[in-house]
Amino acid sequence: MKRKKKPTKKFIVFAAILLIIVLIYMGNKENDEREKTDISNEQAYEPEEPKEPEELEKLEEAENPEESIVELEIEEPYEENPGSLAGVETPDNIIIEKPEAIDVLVNKTRTLPASYAPEDLVTLEDLPTVLVNPEVNQLRSPAYQALKELFNAAQEEAGYYLYARSGYRSYSTQEALYSSYVENHGQAAADKYSAKPGQSEHQTGLAMDITCKALNYQLDTTFAETEEGKWVAENAHRFGFIIRYPKGKEHITGYNYEPWHLRYLGTDLATEVYESGLTLEGFFEQENS
Ligand SMILES: [Zn+2]
Repeated sequence: MKRKKKPTKKFIVFAAILLIIVLIYMGNKENDEREKTDISNEQAYEPEEPKEPEELEKLEEAENPEESIVELEIEEPYEENPGSLAGVETPDNIIIEKPEAIDVLVNKTRTLPASYAPEDLVTLEDLPTVLVNPEVNQLRSPAYQALKELFNAAQEEAGYYLYARSGYRSYSTQEALYSSYVENHGQAAADKYSAKPGQSEHQTGLAMDITCKALNYQLDTTFAETEEGKWVAENAHRFGFIIRYPKGKEHITGYNYEPWHLRYLGTDLATEVYESGLTLEGFFEQENS
């Protein structure tokens, strides 16, 4: 009897070990595939910099630090405004009708159509970038040309080197980021801290997050205190960009201070907004009142 039992026991142990190995392998494979397809396949500009395990979250958190999102308090809706401000009103938000307009206003009450992707996206070939993901190293053509001029001027006028970290982000990428947030932190946290698909300005191809070496090429509010960040704040409008989420305007923009997030508007409008001292929301509201 003992002789017969022994091989059975061994077999069960062997089978169990085999099963565990298969499960571990499948788990790893799933993780690998996730890294391949998601925006998370970012890599540091400097190869020696260690990669963080949860890079999907890292990108989302860098973009939307937990403390950075506050409730949006726009007093008046924009449905009566003409041009790029026109949109179809739904109970919670407005679907933007002219997403391709250079002065398009995107925020938590004005949503881009799911089908919208800019037709003139170009790869940032002549600019220093940080991430490997090819999607985020794109901008609409006029914004790219302007960013090149901005970076060149920073170097020539002041000797500062700027880096492009995160530009275009498709609706489906934002959808994946948002779903991932819901999965990991729950619906309530996701709604509070993650931009819903269609509500990220990065989908316009007109927004770029920039950084510098002093910040180890990350996104951080201390960018504002760097020489590079100060220069950008004072000069970006000359090249058609504004700091989209200014300090102390969280109650209007819905986002905390993001000194790294540049939005292209063209030099005329960017200069007007810069000189007004208003947010883009506040500027349009004043224009249309
Ligand atoms: Zn951004």
